Amino acid sequence: MTQLARVAVFLSALAACACLVAGELRAEQGAAAPPAGTKKISVAVITGGHAFEKDPFLKVFQGHEDIESAHLPQKDGGEIFDDISKWSYDTIVLYNFNQKLTDARRENLLKLLDKGVGLFALHHAISGYTPNWPKYAEIIGGRYYPVDTLENGVKIRSGYKHGVRFKANVEDPNHPITKGVTDFEIVDETYCRYKVDPNVHVFLTTDEPTSEKAIGWVKSFGKARVCCVVLGHDSAAYANKDFIRLVTQAVRWTAGRLPEGNIEPNGATAATRPAAAKDAGKTDGGKPAVKTPAAQP
Ligand SMILES: [Zn+2]
Repeated sequence: MTQLARVAVFLSALAACACLVAGELRAEQGAAAPPAGTKKISVAVITGGHAFEKDPFLKVFQGHEDIESAHLPQKDGGEIFDDISKWSYDTIVLYNFNQKLTDARRENLLKLLDKGVGLFALHHAISGYTPNWPKYAEIIGGRYYPVDTLENGVKIRSGYKHGVRFKANVEDPNHPITKGVTDFEIVDETYCRYKVDPNVHVFLTTDEPTSEKAIGWVKSFGKARVCCVVLGHDSAAYANKDFIRLVTQAVRWTAGRLPEGNIEPNGATAATRPAAAKDAGKTDGGKPAVKTPAAQP
């Protein structure tokens, strides 16, 4: 074999290896290569009102052949919704917390949902625009109470606990969002004493006593596909391959690129669990986790 031929053999072997690695990566992320000419899913990743590990978080949405994401930090609640005349995103990932929307911005967000733009509320975005806009809880099918709130004459306040190692159970293995995911372990923050609308379809649950049972669900709102996943506090979760797979599949599903699957209520929204919540309201240090309105779950 000539020197040139040896180099050619080496290069083709190297290329084969690279293809194999790329194929494995795609399989791990749960994405088949999109057909040539398919437009990438355009995702608006909205943050604000809560600290987070920026680079590892944004990485969750990067490196997927069919997804292109834009990070849109909101300084003033939702300036992205001021002018939607040139809106180009297929779906919105909310990773914001307790932000305020003006009436005009609320109207524009509702207009987008009415056009079928998807909405995916992730982790602390279960309180993205509540308590300032109660309709938000109706849109996403869940409500977290960051401060003492009187509801039907009863005082309620949610709690959280950091760094909990627990098992997430796939409640609906047939839903497109859970495809390729089986029950998995994760180290993440848990929330308790939040409410989940009994009309949502739950695809992910946990028996962890410091958490409510339902931790991932889907529903519709107008023409929009809506998903909420309670997981996702920090890089311990961001690096979890099952979390990445759920999140990217939720992006594809809310964008309308996966079959709708079952969105009917499946009764997996257990009522809040006061006994468990008593413990879950504490941090690792034993102090009440949600002591001041400034506390961030
Ligand atoms: Zn958190």
